[in-house]
Amino acid sequence: MNKRIDEFLESVLITENTTIVGVKNYNKYIIEEYINFLNTYFNIQPQNLKIKVNKRINKRTFGYINLSKLRNGKNEIVIESKGTNYMLSMITHEYTHIVQYLKNNLDGKDDNIYWKGKEYISVEDYNNLDYNAYSKLPWEKEALENQKKIPDLFINGNHLDKLLGKDDSLDYIINNNLL
Ligand SMILES: [Zn+2]
Repeated sequence: MNKRIDEFLESVLITENTTIVGVKNYNKYIIEEYINFLNTYFNIQPQNLKIKVNKRINKRTFGYINLSKLRNGKNEIVIESKGTNYMLSMITHEYTHIVQYLKNNLDGKDDNIYWKGKEYISVEDYNNLDYNAYSKLPWEKEALENQKKIPDLFINGNHLDKLLGKDDSLDYIINNNLL
């Protein structure tokens, strides 16, 4: 079988509420457990959440959500394939935006981004911001803060211990504190 197709087939994990596509088994287990952790942390459960891990997105972007998809009930996070810690931090960033959307703080319509019910910036202007201006947007500021702090709470807690015995690579990572 074509190796890439084979890897793809191996990398689909569907649980009750979360689909994870595009990563190796040990990362699927970690990401799945991390989503459970985020659901508890934010006290919210995005329905049918899909995490799609792509080899590469583009030069500027390491992850995204699509607000019009969210408006159609599709909770999807797309991130670039990187090391586990990096992916957890990207997932945290995008998950924060989904929470902001579900709590009616962040929205997008008519080519504009809305924050707390008010038109804040056009999608075009947003796409042309430099990093400094981008990082000051209220929804990005929150996502950037969360991506820095929340993965550590997960890794330093005992959440990974629950995953022992599922996968040899994962056992090695957990037993040697490689995250
Ligand atoms: Zn963002």
